[in-house]
Amino acid sequence: MPKKINIPEPEENLKIVDVHCHLPFPRPKKNDRLPSDEQQYRDFLNNGGVYLVTSSINNSTLELILNFVKGKEKIGFTIGWAPQTVTFTPKSLYNRDWKDWVENVQIYQEKFLAIGEIGLDFHHAKTLEKREKQVTELKKIFELTKEFNKPYVLHVRNAAEHEFDRDHPKHRYNERDGATKEILNIVKDFNINPKHIMWHCFSGPDEYGILLPKQGYTLSVPSSAYGINKWRRVTKPSPLSALVTETDSYYQHPYLRGPINVPLNVKYSIAAIAYSHNTSQQEVSKITVENAINFYALKL
Ligand SMILES: [Zn+2]
Repeated sequence: MPKKINIPEPEENLKIVDVHCHLPFPRPKKNDRLPSDEQQYRDFLNNGGVYLVTSSINNSTLELILNFVKGKEKIGFTIGWAPQTVTFTPKSLYNRDWKDWVENVQIYQEKFLAIGEIGLDFHHAKTLEKREKQVTELKKIFELTKEFNKPYVLHVRNAAEHEFDRDHPKHRYNERDGATKEILNIVKDFNINPKHIMWHCFSGPDEYGILLPKQGYTLSVPSSAYGINKWRRVTKPSPLSALVTETDSYYQHPYLRGPINVPLNVKYSIAAIAYSHNTSQQEVSKITVENAINFYALKL
């Protein structure tokens, strides 16, 4: 049973944007309790959905998405090479896959809304060698795309305390903001405007909830912030003008143990932000929808 949550439920008739989800995505068929991809899309649009942004993480998810968005309205996509892709693609396939991705970035330049998700994940990469590989690949992506004038969607996950690399216990990547700091340095080196960068599923550390918006970055609040206090806490001090809403579906869930999420649940992000910012859901909806439209330069 989900633990009791004292936050008001999302109201009816909210306008919603999901700035980051994975629809479609290769889900395990066994025990798949989710509605079909088409149904999830229709449910979203029939219940206040203004726009939905679906995110690829490699070439095969890009192909799924390209097929899915064909002929559909109010849906766009981002082209990603996730840090998990860097870490988990078998060595024997990596170079060929990467080459294909570089081609895809050129081919679909007019179609994608942003580059992402890309970033650093020091939870999945636990050794210095794997972390350095993610850094190298991330720099290659910025080098390749910095002239595109497209926004970026970042996936940043710092190493937890128990995830320090035992062979290099003193290395800065083990720090609680090791990945965050590294990304900020890279962004600076490539001279990318923070106004064009979104931190998807922003997870802290706490002080960055204040620091990043001050520098012009956009932070995305996941629907699971409804049920998880920590994810409300990190953006509690952030101004509404810096916030957008996402589900990261089918990953996560507003209050159950995921991954069983759908884009319509993005209304729970709004409920979470309204609660943490002590304001109305209508106000949060109005501002976050505007922020999302501006960030992705959506044509509606
Ligand atoms: Zn994601």
